[in-house]
Amino acid sequence: MLQADRVVHTTCPYCGVGCQVDLHIRDEHIFRVEGRFDNRVNFGQLCVKGRFGYDYVHAPDRLRHPLMRASRSEDFAPVPWDKALDVVAGRLREIRERYGPRSIAFLTSAKCTNEENYLLQKFARAVIGTNTVDHCARL
Ligand code: SF4
Repeated sequence: MLQADRVVHTTCPYCGVGCQVDLHIRDEHIFRVEGRFDNRVNFGQLCVKGRFGYDYVHAPDRLRHPLMRASRSEDFAPVPWDKALDVVAGRLREIRERYGPRSIAFLTSAKCTNEENYLLQKFARAVIGTNTVDHCARL
């Protein structure tokens, strides 16, 4: 059996259940995933995504930076996170001032952790001022 250089204990990234996994890594590549038994979330069990769905980690076309385009006729190009976040914050501020906070809605994802989903609804309600928050699991 192939031996790992190291084993990383982490949380499955696919949904908010939060199953605990061990990633077996050799030459900086994940080659095996096992569910951990020492927790009360998944007791060592994993669904098919959590067990086998890790090819994307090493995919050559994986997005690693935000992409923006200067106009609709131009191609997307990588930009630093600070710049992308400034643009998004500026557009949210502009829309809220022009049309009011209820003109903005937030849709979050089951692929986020419960904590990330909590933060997004808190941001929507406390910072933007809208209760229009939904989740892909309701679609
Ligand atoms: S995708 Fe599957 S393995 Fe991963 S946290 Fe959700 S239920 Fe657990």
